Amino acid sequence: MTKRMASNGDQNGDLKDLVRTIPDHPKPGIMFRDISTLMLEGEAFGAAIDRLASLLDGDRPDLIAGIEARGFVFASALAYKLGCGVLMLRKRGKLPGTTISIEYALEYGTDMLEMHDDACGPGANVVLVDDLIATGGTAMAAVELLRGRGARVEQALFVIDLPELGGAERLREAEMGVHALMAFDGE
Ligand code: AMP
Repeated sequence: MTKRMASNGDQNGDLKDLVRTIPDHPKPGIMFRDISTLMLEGEAFGAAIDRLASLLDGDRPDLIAGIEARGFVFASALAYKLGCGVLMLRKRGKLPGTTISIEYALEYGTDMLEMHDDACGPGANVVLVDDLIATGGTAMAAVELLRGRGARVEQALFVIDLPELGGAERLREAEMGVHALMAFDGE
């Protein structure tokens, strides 16, 4: 099985057709894959959640960790479907309690992710969710943050993979199972 097939990158064309591409956002040269157009279609949004859930291996996770902000949308719907809780990984300064944080590089710029330091206990089975993986900087930071609290983080789900930017590969090198509904290869 090729890596592309393993990430389901060539499937889900019905959903892929609903992702809008906005060239040169937020800066020249970036092809922004805008998932909000898929989210507006109820049936397609539901199908995306069902198909993401079906990609998960193993037992029901304890928590779905979503990355602010688009990751929250998919993480919360998925958690409802699976019957587990939602852990918020937020941008700098948004969480009210005591937090732990990590700085990371983006496809464009740098940023910081934070979580409440008591959001998950050691050994918690946590699945990471975001709308898109590009360089993997954000997702790797999330994995490090969660593993730093002793969580068992072995799988990540994305709606979109940009395989040319190598993020999914980076996560696999960190012993993560990586699943995405679709891939965009420089289109
Ligand atoms: P990265 O850390 O490079 O994997 O970037 C992933 C994060 O940045 C995700 O939270 C995405 O929502 C956002 N992102 C990065 N590149 C794009 C892109 N080309 N289109 C839409 N969102 C993007």
